[in-house]
Amino acid sequence: MNQSTYIAPKIPEGEEERLAELYGLELLDTASDLRFDRYTSLVAELFDFPIVLITLVDRDRQWFKSKLGWNKSECPRDISFCGHAINQDSLLVVPNALEDPRFAGNPLVTGDPHIRFYAGAVVRGPTGHALGTLCVLDHKPRHFDEVQCTRLRHFADLVENEIAHCADLLALKGSIELSAYYDPLTHLPNRELLMNRLDQLLELANVESLQVVVLLFNVTGLRLINQSLGTHAGDELLRQLADRLQDTCPAGGSVARLQADELVLIFPVKADSQREAFTHKIHAALERPYRCEGQEHYLSVKIGGSLFPGQGKSAGALIEQASAAIRLSPEGLAEPVHYFDHAYSDSLSEHLRIESCLKGALARDEFYLLYQPIFSLRTGKMTGVEALLRWRCQELGQVTPDQFIPVAEENGLIVPIGRWVRKEVFRQLQVWCRETDWDITVAINVSPAELVQPTFSQDLLERLAFSQIPAKLLRIEITEHSLVRDNEIVDKNLAWLKEQGIEINIDDFGTGYSSLSYLRRLPVSSLKIDRSFIDALPASEDGATITCTIIDMAKALGLEQVAEGIEKIEQLAFLREHQCAYGQGYFLSHPLTSEKISVLRGGSGVFDFQ
Ligand code: C2E
Ligand code: MG
Ligand code: MG
Repeated sequence: MNQSTYIAPKIPEGEEERLAELYGLELLDTASDLRFDRYTSLVAELFDFPIVLITLVDRDRQWFKSKLGWNKSECPRDISFCGHAINQDSLLVVPNALEDPRFAGNPLVTGDPHIRFYAGAVVRGPTGHALGTLCVLDHKPRHFDEVQCTRLRHFADLVENEIAHCADLLALKGSIELSAYYDPLTHLPNRELLMNRLDQLLELANVESLQVVVLLFNVTGLRLINQSLGTHAGDELLRQLADRLQDTCPAGGSVARLQADELVLIFPVKADSQREAFTHKIHAALERPYRCEGQEHYLSVKIGGSLFPGQGKSAGALIEQASAAIRLSPEGLAEPVHYFDHAYSDSLSEHLRIESCLKGALARDEFYLLYQPIFSLRTGKMTGVEALLRWRCQELGQVTPDQFIPVAEENGLIVPIGRWVRKEVFRQLQVWCRETDWDITVAINVSPAELVQPTFSQDLLERLAFSQIPAKLLRIEITEHSLVRDNEIVDKNLAWLKEQGIEINIDDFGTGYSSLSYLRRLPVSSLKIDRSFIDALPASEDGATITCTIIDMAKALGLEQVAEGIEKIEQLAFLREHQCAYGQGYFLSHPLTSEKISVLRGGSGVFDFQ
């Protein structure tokens, strides 16, 4: 026999897939591992072999995951025995290498470590590719019987289990890493990943002179949706919103979820016109109705924007500015996106200061109420008052409701504050009722965040009953804006209050979008015509027409009409001439303390129109 030759192993079919599985397991060139070493020790002991290896056959080498009796960590593939072993299903057994033409001239046989005997059982990965072997070697020829073959195969199966276990751990590690960067609900990148991407985009924009647009999407009323339709519905709507943003995301852009109700889209553009085209497309995609549980829904999404260069210089600053743009830009802008304005920085810090002071305001007893009289415009008699909340802050001084109510609504503090207002009104009504035969109604303003509390009406009615105040003395005022379309809890709360004799006013009427049919369905008793229309009287034709239309419409629907914000005698004259039933405003009376109301009521309580 020619001892100077040997045969290099064949490269199996599907070699690339085999290598892909091997590399995917990330086992090559890793540290020694007891999980594998215990098998090589056991096998060495049990079969009495000087060399036992767990090998992995790489493209050009075989590498030893576990080795006993061999001092190298790898050897070339073309002289490896295992390279042959992985090409067959059954064990490769070479009783005497010197007598086997494949190995007789192999340097591992003719030289160190002088292999004579080899038996190798193939070890496969979780998807079935042969990765390497569990093999036993000896420096002298040996016999290996059937039983030993079967046993070695069983040990190889155990090694395969360990490899599968490693693969599971790797996948688990991958998913843990994934969850550190992705939002589980929408599968969108989270804040951390978004910040990385935005940093990269800013670098690119610097080099290529691009503009970067940051758009922040705030789902207004997500809390209301969750409370009224259930969180699964809120989740579903959010997922749909995320899908739409991804579908319309311009090339090179990214979408991410920053908070429960806040998504962000970043993208590069070359010119303003391109940015406008994209934002209009995105806005149009969000405006379409959403479908959830067989019903159509409309999501109200506010969009705040910031631009680079020009505004923020860092990822963090741009996101903050887009967020400030949402919170601080004026209502009713025609443009779909509210872009940041540097003037907002001041308002933002004021907003934050208000928020921080507001948290302790109840405990510090800083709230009090004023009552603004409401007069019959026919008789001049004071028929009601509206309770108006005032806040004298220790630190900020007097803060107006228009400044602090939106903040309280945003962070949920409006709920305990509203409860305090009702308690205080009930206490005052008890005093008034005790003093006189009180028949003046007190109207309380209620925020949407309160109305969606399922226990709102029950809580109010229980306290009312406890105070022994007749329900007819109480009214609640809700703004048109608070009438979230088809909110079952709001509808139930209103229906129950009305059933128990509490009348409901629609405040700031004319600025919202209530349809007539919706108004008809609600248990409402009066419309308060928004101050902006009264302000325009009588000079503005539009103001006059709208005011008259609202008065006529209210009468047709059997609703009372109250004009808000009467400041001038001409406005009063116009309203009286057009037979508006009630009025309120500085010309008639400013909001007053409870003592002054008592005095006014104790006197004639009648406004003299002459
Ligand atoms: P609103 O319910 O429409 O209250 C009427 C507002 O118009 C009051 O402002 C009142 O002082 C003001 N006003 C009355 N007559 C005139 C006038 O002739 N000219 C002008 N320019 N203003 C007049 P205020 O007290 O600053 O309250 C602003 C808003 O804050 C209220 O609007 C209401 O929406 C909200 N608010 C006030 N108190 C409460 C409260 O206890 N709870 C809730 N949720 N909201 C409240
Ligand atoms: Mg009001
Ligand atoms: Mg109003």
